Amino acid sequence: MHPDQLAKEKMLKDGSDDNVVFTTTTEDGATPVNPDFYSTSTPMCFSGCSKRDEPKLRSDSDDRLQSLVDQVIGWHHARNLICGSSDKDQTVKLLQELGELSDNVCKNLDIRDDIGDMLVVLINIAERNGLSLADCLQKAWDDIKDRKGKMIDGIFVKEQDL
Ligand SMILES: [Mg+2]
Repeated sequence: MHPDQLAKEKMLKDGSDDNVVFTTTTEDGATPVNPDFYSTSTPMCFSGCSKRDEPKLRSDSDDRLQSLVDQVIGWHHARNLICGSSDKDQTVKLLQELGELSDNVCKNLDIRDDIGDMLVVLINIAERNGLSLADCLQKAWDDIKDRKGKMIDGIFVKEQDL
């Protein structure tokens, strides 16, 4: 069983840990265990990991990531996977890669290749649309950074959807 699932089951059984931050849905409705999770400065997940330090603005890993992205873009162009493919084709490919990720998550296997493969396909779609991963991630970050809500059965539900 996955370590996160084990930790969740243990906490559900114990029911007394003040650091529990997820909300579980019971037969009589959602019961927030720690509703202040998203307003605390150092949130912790139910596995006990704490929030990472704020990232540095630039680092060697930024340069490494950009170099890899540039190589992947070149790889796509060299194999005619930008003009010779389509967003629809690549979205189907992305779903295939998601399936592989799901399979390996469920089997508790190494998921680096699966996440990497998904990024390769996302880079393809972004390149065809004249976008960078940074553009897309920035847009998503701007949308979510101040979002409030709560966890229900491992899913973050936006405040307006509660
Ligand atoms: Mg794959």
